[in-house]
Amino acid sequence: KRRMMAKRIVIIGGGSGGYVSAIRLSRHGNEVVLIEKDRLGGTCLNRGCIPTKALYGSAETLHAARNGGSFGIHFDGTINIDPSGIQERKNEVVGSLVSGVAQLLKANGVRVVNGEARILDGSVLAADEVLNYDELIIATGSVPAVPPIEGIELEGVVTSDELLGFEEIPAELIIIGGGVIGMELAGIMNEFGSKVTVLEAMPAILPMVDSEIVRRLTPILKRSGIEVITSAVVNCICVSDGRLSVTYSTKKGEETRSSDKVLLSVGRRPNTCGLGLDEAGIAYDRKGIITDDNFETSVKGIYAIGDVNGRVLLAHAASAQAEYVAELISGNEASIGKIIPSCVFMFPEIAQAGETEDQLKASGTEYTVSKFQFGANGKALAMGQGEGVIKVLGDRGGKLLGVHIMGPHASDLIHEAVLLMENGQGVEASRRMIHAHPTLSEALHEAVMGLAGDAVHMM
Ligand code: FAD
Repeated sequence: KRRMMAKRIVIIGGGSGGYVSAIRLSRHGNEVVLIEKDRLGGTCLNRGCIPTKALYGSAETLHAARNGGSFGIHFDGTINIDPSGIQERKNEVVGSLVSGVAQLLKANGVRVVNGEARILDGSVLAADEVLNYDELIIATGSVPAVPPIEGIELEGVVTSDELLGFEEIPAELIIIGGGVIGMELAGIMNEFGSKVTVLEAMPAILPMVDSEIVRRLTPILKRSGIEVITSAVVNCICVSDGRLSVTYSTKKGEETRSSDKVLLSVGRRPNTCGLGLDEAGIAYDRKGIITDDNFETSVKGIYAIGDVNGRVLLAHAASAQAEYVAELISGNEASIGKIIPSCVFMFPEIAQAGETEDQLKASGTEYTVSKFQFGANGKALAMGQGEGVIKVLGDRGGKLLGVHIMGPHASDLIHEAVLLMENGQGVEASRRMIHAHPTLSEALHEAVMGLAGDAVHMM
């Protein structure tokens, strides 16, 4: 390790990117100031990953209670949903994590300044204080994109920021946009009893997910009561008979649906406003602040990590970039993984890493496919969750190119695939790895072994 002199580092934004880089930099002996205008933890802890997964936890409990009969467990009476109880629990989970971040920063000697930061010439202004830096990290994240649709200002038309704090469960909910955020909230609100309709402008929902997985998901969504209308372009929203009325065009023509609430989930835009980027000469475009392979901006010594650089809008990507930049600034060797897993927390869960089959086809890469059904996995059946599949794409030598999981605990299972892929491994490494029985992990092992025709529980 190369040791450098301690530096003065200013970080703007206390989310998954900002607070992780602050802790790492401080541990390396730097003098670190973290500026946050709102609550520590950023989108992930306050308005993103954690509140959605806390709500998902309530939805899962409900899901299990409703399916109790198939386990021989019968609940007498009705199942009551208490929105304030759900919110209270969610807020407790969020609160404990946010205060945990505050304690971590304090314990690591990071100075936190509460205020909105503005970049000046060689310094940063926040809460009437001018902070000088040797190096600056911008980690201001993203905010929900609001499309230019007539009527979006109407009461009851919300973004994920507001929907997460619901006081009552809307009887009907129209979701505009079938990306990850839209589909996760569709699954959660559907479990809570909303009649959910998803309007997606593209021919398919979840454009980043392997299209075969999306095809397999479609009948499951239908069965669960979620209606998905694809190739549906929303034209306007208005109020009719006291309800929200959404007009959209499909190939069949113009249609209208009414609803109690409308969720706009058409993507996120980088939080670049009001930072003073133009004055500081920091280049950016619609997708975010432009960075090189070291996440350095067009101005030397100024870095941009996380959602604001528009590369990968995921919390763990922001944290990985944060650690990379912290090592780099501290004069240490810095490296970052190439394989970034992504998950969709629905019923069932979806997780993936590496290439999709469509991407391999488009790049003309030769590949083989192996699929293992959770229905042939003892643990999944014992859990009553035998629906789903693991699809593995590999090269001729048995190395993994992509893994796509739809089924129980997909989001936890994907990491073995990430490790194999990151190390350029596949069948042979999995062959030597003994998987405990009975576990869901055996399903991934079987799917990988299937690439070589060596899965035991496959016909
Ligand atoms: P952020 O977390 O957005 O943090 C930026 C911080 O900067 C904010 O706290 C903001 O207040 C502050 N800030 C902005 N401007 C200034 C300024 N001028 N001065 C001072 N402070 C400023 N990702 C996952 O990996 N898994 C998930 O399950 C997941 N679920 C999600 C669900 C929802 C509903 C949403 C909206 C997002 C979800 N994400 C998920 C995405 C994840 O939240 C983001 O990728 C992650 O938070 C990005 O971290 P960041 O540090 O770049 O920015």
